[in-house]
Amino acid sequence: MCGIVGIVDAGGVSYPLYYALYALQHRGQESAGITTFDGKALHKHKAQGLVAEVFDVDSLSGLLGNAGIGHVRYPTTGEKIPENIQPFNFTFQKKKISIAHNGNLTNTQDLRREFEERGQIFCTSTDTEVIGNIIVDELRHSSSMQDAVLACMKRLEGSYSVVVLIDDKIYAFRDPLGIRPLCLGKTPEGYIVCSESVAVDALNGEFIRDVKPGEMITISKEGIKCVQIAQASCCGFCIFEYIYFARADSVIDGQLVYDVRRRIGKSLHLEAPVDADIISPVPDSGTAHATGYSESSGIPFREGLIKNRYIGRTFIMPNQKARENAVRIKLNPVKKHLRDKSVVLVDDSIVRGTTSRRIIDLVEDNGAKEVHIRVGSPPIKAPCYLGVDMPTREELIAHNHSCDEVCKKIGATSLHHISIEALIRATGHAPEDLCTGCLTGVYPLKIGNEKACTRHIDFISGTYQSDLKTFGKEETIK
Ligand code: AMP
Repeated sequence: MCGIVGIVDAGGVSYPLYYALYALQHRGQESAGITTFDGKALHKHKAQGLVAEVFDVDSLSGLLGNAGIGHVRYPTTGEKIPENIQPFNFTFQKKKISIAHNGNLTNTQDLRREFEERGQIFCTSTDTEVIGNIIVDELRHSSSMQDAVLACMKRLEGSYSVVVLIDDKIYAFRDPLGIRPLCLGKTPEGYIVCSESVAVDALNGEFIRDVKPGEMITISKEGIKCVQIAQASCCGFCIFEYIYFARADSVIDGQLVYDVRRRIGKSLHLEAPVDADIISPVPDSGTAHATGYSESSGIPFREGLIKNRYIGRTFIMPNQKARENAVRIKLNPVKKHLRDKSVVLVDDSIVRGTTSRRIIDLVEDNGAKEVHIRVGSPPIKAPCYLGVDMPTREELIAHNHSCDEVCKKIGATSLHHISIEALIRATGHAPEDLCTGCLTGVYPLKIGNEKACTRHIDFISGTYQSDLKTFGKEETIK
């Protein structure tokens, strides 16, 4: 998973981009980068590490100009090598171009092979570079970014929210199913497009709306233009963004993530009530879910575990051993809240099961007499090919274990996962507008031999002016 941002602002963009990336840090902790354009040249700074480690006053002061893009990376494709750190910069026919992407293409190998057969070289092992190549290939024939994005939407399979800086303009587009989030906001003297609305908030900006699936937004010093390039019969919003990935204070596709999680907690209580002494979240990802359970049950919300704020998400650790050690550093039990108590522990998801087992041990070792686990997602049974690091089926504890078996394996007094129906209701979206591939094994597009419930996609015709469809017409936001 990754986070992306693009800003055009007459007051300069280096610090706004930096603050926005800070707000999106949860989407990727492996590397961070910014590219800006000052009217003549691109300026870039990128490196491995957290945003706070990558940038300092010196590097930010070199990022000149009023247009720029930024990226935080959590690698799901491509190795962890410096060449893969985004944004990627290049020059084409005197145009200075930079690109950053969140998502995961499922046809990268085919596209890459096709370019390589034509003698094209690649400098990275990412799918993002393939997107850059399609754009440039199209710009070669027609100088229109609308054509280039149309070509992308016709050829790319998978998930992609993309920002492209071409000289002093930013183009942002979201795949026709809208799998990964992307939204638009107003900054003091310009506009921002970013993965989550928290980045708009970080700049004290004004949230405008989500970028629509299949839409392209152009931001320049003149303002904003929006054009619908493709229209799918249904969307494929990633349900895992709501369960775990996005920040609780973000609004994604019209839903405040915190509200979704509270509704999940409420449903967890209605589906599996317990006569317990306290409701405790597994911090931080289970907090909003636990609030909902507590409100619905009337049982007090009390934190039984406190998280060390200065450790990254455990799943960024390179191997199982590192992940296991990280749990101990990450969470400290509050003995007084746990001793002789019957505890409902609410977590967002169980992936491999390692975290739950360790947490239950921790809570029991500190005196809890019962530990009831309530989980804000149905069992995760299938991998994600669309941008979340969800391992192979074999690594997923729910793949070949029933709920009762998982309960025994993790040592819980009881275990309940929210039903898929209640989860979908909690998101506020229609079931056909969501990607639930990791929960159901059915994906919104064809991926290898996996089951799919594909969407029909219409594209705008080549003659935009005479296009009679409701989409394909440019609209300006003042
Ligand atoms: P585990 O069951 O040990 O893999 O850990 C699951 C916990 O890690 C969940 O409660 C989440 O907070 C977090 N998590 C969420 N997504 C992932 C993921 N893709 N891979 C690993 N851990 C994740």
